[in-house]
Amino acid sequence: MSSSKQATELVDKYGRRVDYIRLSVTDRCDFRCVYCMTEDMTFLPRDQILSLEELYRVAKVFTELGVRKIRLTGGEPMVRTNVMSLIEKLGALPGLEELLLTTNGAQLVKFAGPLKAAGVNRINISIDSLDAERFKRISRVGKLDNVLAGIDAAKAAGFDRIRLNSVVMKGYNEDEVIDLTDYAVERDIDIAFIEEMPLGEASDHDREDTTCSNAWVRETISQKYQLVDSAEKTAGPSRYVKVSGKKSRIGFISPVTHNFCEDCNRVRVTVEGRLLLCLGNEHSVDLRAILRNPNGDDVLLKQALIDSMEIKPERHFFYDKDHAQPIRLMNMTGG
Ligand code: SAM
Ligand code: SF4
Repeated sequence: MSSSKQATELVDKYGRRVDYIRLSVTDRCDFRCVYCMTEDMTFLPRDQILSLEELYRVAKVFTELGVRKIRLTGGEPMVRTNVMSLIEKLGALPGLEELLLTTNGAQLVKFAGPLKAAGVNRINISIDSLDAERFKRISRVGKLDNVLAGIDAAKAAGFDRIRLNSVVMKGYNEDEVIDLTDYAVERDIDIAFIEEMPLGEASDHDREDTTCSNAWVRETISQKYQLVDSAEKTAGPSRYVKVSGKKSRIGFISPVTHNFCEDCNRVRVTVEGRLLLCLGNEHSVDLRAILRNPNGDDVLLKQALIDSMEIKPERHFFYDKDHAQPIRLMNMTGG
């Protein structure tokens, strides 16, 4: 490996600096969204998942290597027993500037206030339909009313920013793009439309039939709202526009039709402790083996993170028939 022992930050061989991690705290969920899970999911046994202490240790070592932003995800983070104790510790972690959460919103009535108090700065809430029947069809089990109440609770709790996430799928919810935008605009919150990614095999549909391009979504929204390109640039596959005369921004997360890999600043850690260097590739490092090795101290862990930069792939190849597609489902990946 070419990385030196003295490295204090994570830079890959393409010169990309990693300062953002997505940390999955569970593979479990109280929903079964059609694009994310199969109906009869089996989840990981308890001894294979990182403890809350191990998750904290991973986060701490990453921040010592210059990571400034952590997004907690899953599965559904809020179904993990005692997850608030981890979130409270992360909220006080020196060096961490932003603590973010992605949730399905079903439990925010209970947790929005405590999450804000623990130091969560921003929150993303997934919602794919405003129609209760359809919401149930897409999430298979979710209750729309709980999520709508959760969004209100998040607003009342005063997060710096709230963003809704909607995966747009032909034949499921593509005719709700305007309604979802109206809903966000009326509440002064942001919304991002996400192209469905080919992560694992979906059991209810063929992804190539349902995937909707964000070019189409943008065109559809432009029929009602004037969209103004924003100078704001985020590393990663999201691009934002402002809605003229409104506070809301609209994000387009287009990993399928656009490849923004050259700006990539992130890695993922699955709840099994697998460090995934790219969403669309299998390149990974087993951090759990180091965490559970009696001789595996933080120096070793840090070195493993530094060395991992050598194998961060240049880009993903979603839907490219010449390249193998990921077999991991999104709940195993950490969305
Ligand atoms: N349970 C939380 C939630 O739903 O927000 C966090 C985890 S979820 C895996 C994170 C995000 O990934 C959600 O916004 C979800 O809609 C999105 N997602 C899941 N599977 C996807 C797929 N195959 N393609 C695109 N987005 C997906
Ligand atoms: Fe659960 Fe989120 Fe996956 Fe839906 S997208 S099944 S809420 S983890």
